[in-house]
Amino acid sequence: MIKVYVSACLLGQNVKYDGSNNYLLQIEELKKYAKLIPFCPEVAGKLPTPRTPSEIKGPMVISSDNKDRTMNFFLGATLAEELIVNENIKYVLSKEKSPSCGVKKIYDGTFSHTLIDGEGITTRLLREHQVKIFSEEEIELLLEELKAQVKA
Ligand code: SF4
Repeated sequence: MIKVYVSACLLGQNVKYDGSNNYLLQIEELKKYAKLIPFCPEVAGKLPTPRTPSEIKGPMVISSDNKDRTMNFFLGATLAEELIVNENIKYVLSKEKSPSCGVKKIYDGTFSHTLIDGEGITTRLLREHQVKIFSEEEIELLLEELKAQVKA
């Protein structure tokens, strides 16, 4: 079965900074076509849940209470990279706007709810591999691709 790396919060795991999740109903459809492998880079990077939210600011990742979280985010990204390499994963479903998992949009580092074009630290690293990365807003595209592969 095709393997898909999924941001763990999209699968309903309570790993979001505020202790909640971003469960996505279409995940149930996705499960019919792929083996889903959940991963949360921020938890893997040894950050607690709940935790203060962080944003990317230049080369660093800073929390809203002004702590440097850069090392945690890069540790999580490296472990995510190891996972996709070891499991030979070619598809990723990733949570948009997150400083770890964002695909096309992230917050601008000012904690003012301002979005800019950009991607999360983990997404950036995973892109260096031969993987197709979809945000949850593009899950229908991922489903179409997986269905086509299952038929082929
Ligand atoms: Fe979800 Fe990614 Fe944030 Fe973890 S780091 S809570 S998987 S968006």
